[in-house]
Amino acid sequence: MPKKQQKNTEDPIPKDLFDILACPLCKADLEYTKDKKGLLCSKCGEKYPIKGGIPELLPRKMK
Ligand SMILES: [Zn+2]
Repeated sequence: MPKKQQKNTEDPIPKDLFDILACPLCKADLEYTKDKKGLLCSKCGEKYPIKGGIPELLPRKMK
């Protein structure tokens, strides 16, 4: 049985860290954006940048 391995996935964030990440606004799971340069909340759609391998989970403050 052939095993399917994901060799092409180059996640900017270690999986251990990624697994515990959650949206600070609604606590929903986050997923990578298409280019994997950011994180996207699966619930509220808030987008967070990843800088130097560290996600910046700061919700944009609105006046
Ligand atoms: Zn959210």
